[in-house]
Amino acid sequence: MNPSEYIWYNGSFINWNQANTHVLTHALHYGSGVFEGIRAYQTSDGAAIFKAKEHYDRLLDSCSLYDIECKYSVDELISITQDLIVKNQLPSCYIRPIVYTDYGSIGIIPKDGSYSVAIAIWEWGSYLGDEGLQYGIRCLISDIMKTPTQSMPSTAKSCANYANSFLAKKKAINQGFDEAILLNQHGNVSEGPGENIFIIKNNKIVTPPISEDVLKGITRDTIIELALDLGYSVSEETISPSDLLDSDECFFTGTAAEVTPIREINNQSIGDGRKGAITSEIQSLYFDVVKGQNQDYNHWLTYCKEN
Ligand code: PMP
Repeated sequence: MNPSEYIWYNGSFINWNQANTHVLTHALHYGSGVFEGIRAYQTSDGAAIFKAKEHYDRLLDSCSLYDIECKYSVDELISITQDLIVKNQLPSCYIRPIVYTDYGSIGIIPKDGSYSVAIAIWEWGSYLGDEGLQYGIRCLISDIMKTPTQSMPSTAKSCANYANSFLAKKKAINQGFDEAILLNQHGNVSEGPGENIFIIKNNKIVTPPISEDVLKGITRDTIIELALDLGYSVSEETISPSDLLDSDECFFTGTAAEVTPIREINNQSIGDGRKGAITSEIQSLYFDVVKGQNQDYNHWLTYCKEN
């Protein structure tokens, strides 16, 4: 990780190295926090945050699902993020807001629940590698089951959910793969540890519905809209592991992962084992949009210029 100069922490901009917390912080023990992952891209008009409102809306929705109180509104959080980007003078960055249960009492339900809010930003390249974006990655269908939403709501981006992601991803990497694909309790394809998944068969684009224990990804929504605008048929349908292996093209979406082609699953090639033509078209439109190079989608960008 490439530290930036400032982190915003409970109302102040403080030095990166001073943004520390106690070892008995509740969230560290019980995962009682929620967070977001957002990106700001370099545009010809300075850094612009992609879908800032959608991300902060989801952060506050995650807070509600866990009964965690966030003292700041969506508008305030957006404005703090703009200031943080300007202060750190980053042309582009990854943005990590977190709201978590503080140090205080160590029972599962803290007696006097108090919550901290922090936003950190840093420069972060492609999550699954530049080669991955270009040529596609190799995935393993995990034997770690996706946590059912009845156990932990998959629509909340809670810290605790990521123990499930960690296990699946770690096992896949230990076996020489780039990323895991998780199936849910019904044996259907759910998502990646930090990505939504799409398949393409006979020019039709399909992604699992939210009911398959899936996070309602903001990139997922973006890609559905862009693919429809490009004239493709897009549907939310249950995907079985054999549909996945039998697809012509397959890709992951996510703020960190952007649009990453999947070229191989369980050592079996997807299509001709390279980034597919439709994936390429969608990926290239996505990058134009997030970098402010397509005016039709400029309303998704929040610019951060000093004024
Ligand atoms: N699923 C999971 C489990 C994730 O962690 C992420 C990353 N936030 C996604 C999907 C993709 O969501 P988004 O496009 O909003 O980043």
